Amino acid sequence: MALTNEYLLSVYETVKKRNPGESEFLQAVYEVLDSLQPVAEKRKDLVDAGVFERIVEPERFISFRVSWVDDSGKVRVNRGYRVQFNSAIGPYKGGLRFNASVCASEIKFLGFEQIFKNSLTGLPMGGGKGGSDFDPKGKSDGEVMRFCQSFMTELAKHIGPDTDVPAGDKGVGAREIGYLFGQYKRLANEYTGVLTGKSLYSGGSLARTEATGYGLCYFVKEMLAAKNDSFEGKTVVVSASGNVAIFACEKAQQLGARVVAMSDSNGYVYDPDGIKLDVVKKIKLEERGRIREYAARVPGSVYTEGSSGIWTIPCDIALPCGTQNEIDENSARTLVANGCKCVAEGANMPSTLEAIEVFREAGILFGPAKAANAGGVSVSGLEMTQNSIRLPWTFEEVDAKLQDIMKNIYHNAYAASVEMGRPGDLVVGANVAGFLKVANAMLWQGIAY
Ligand code: NDP
Repeated sequence: MALTNEYLLSVYETVKKRNPGESEFLQAVYEVLDSLQPVAEKRKDLVDAGVFERIVEPERFISFRVSWVDDSGKVRVNRGYRVQFNSAIGPYKGGLRFNASVCASEIKFLGFEQIFKNSLTGLPMGGGKGGSDFDPKGKSDGEVMRFCQSFMTELAKHIGPDTDVPAGDKGVGAREIGYLFGQYKRLANEYTGVLTGKSLYSGGSLARTEATGYGLCYFVKEMLAAKNDSFEGKTVVVSASGNVAIFACEKAQQLGARVVAMSDSNGYVYDPDGIKLDVVKKIKLEERGRIREYAARVPGSVYTEGSSGIWTIPCDIALPCGTQNEIDENSARTLVANGCKCVAEGANMPSTLEAIEVFREAGILFGPAKAANAGGVSVSGLEMTQNSIRLPWTFEEVDAKLQDIMKNIYHNAYAASVEMGRPGDLVVGANVAGFLKVANAMLWQGIAY
């Protein structure tokens, strides 16, 4: 597909002018506007109310200095961000990412995607995202704590349980959320659900840790079921070995698949007998080690340097769970040539626009991130509900709700794809279904932002 609608092209040109060089953000905006062409043609009321122009501009973008002291006594300075992109359907909601790559473009692309993802969940959550170019890898617990405390000292001025509720993302797991929560509580002198992904001791939800990876597999299950197929006996490749990847692997295995490869940013392991997830969990979750250590511990497995090589392994289903743009056009062509029949995105925007075109042309099943990985934020929404009613639900209760939500997301995205005349194109379906709810809310609320 290509963006040809004159009005939406002019919207895109303005975004380009306002955000020069922000390639990830521009990529995300282009993909959404491209999908929304039939909507712009049919809904003159949204055009007249400037909804398209407004939705691509964040309501608020905050950037701030984060100073902290490392273990040797040296003062370090990082940059923190929070984008409060859209609050039409609920308080801003979206994770915090701590990674050396974090910059304005990355935070804006993630915040923009989050608007539509949160809308698709059916829960009342607006779109936001934040983070820092601080990388917790290789830092001591004390350093991570001091960084988190300094980061929250500024962020606390902008968030609140009914205003903006951050969560984890890459580099922000249970440890970081704990330090951030502790500092917020100290500053605000209140105990509220201002963050999600909290520990079970402090108002966290059961199944939040598993939610994104499990949700991804529930979504794939629906995609396969629509073709009278299932995970049973399928060969699966899962990139990365972080939170999303580990629990995607776990659920795929539970549903009868054989996961043969996982990776990290340095390289990948191939285990033809099926990944031993207990070994991966020990290395990654307990020891914070590297995936190469898997090959040293599991006979018959092989480690190869370079993470993108993972897409050369023949598979039926590919689940990219690492980072943005990890599947480019070449990798997409290799996957298709090797017989891959389904790609579903666990990470945010892991496929380039060119890779998506390859999947479209090949007619394989493709589950875009904002639909397929919405399980994490869905359970974050359920965590907010449990905090509000001050009542925890069991793992089974949360997991059952998660399954329902993922099923609904699939069916709503599919129905929107049919309505737009592109049956089965879930990129279009997810963008349109996610957009319409937010757009109608913006229309109803008048022009205040
Ligand atoms: P983690 O920090 O737990 O793990 C990230 C993983 O990705 C690590 O294994 C990392 O390896 C790996 N990785 C980074 N770059 C690459 C690469 N180029 N190729 C292969 N692997 C790579 O993060 P999460 O699992 O939480 O997040 C992963 C993705 O999922 C992100 O895009 C995130 O935005 C998205 N997501 C996460 C949600 C959640 O609930 N956690 C919710 C929805 C989306 P290394 O250790 O070498 O850095």
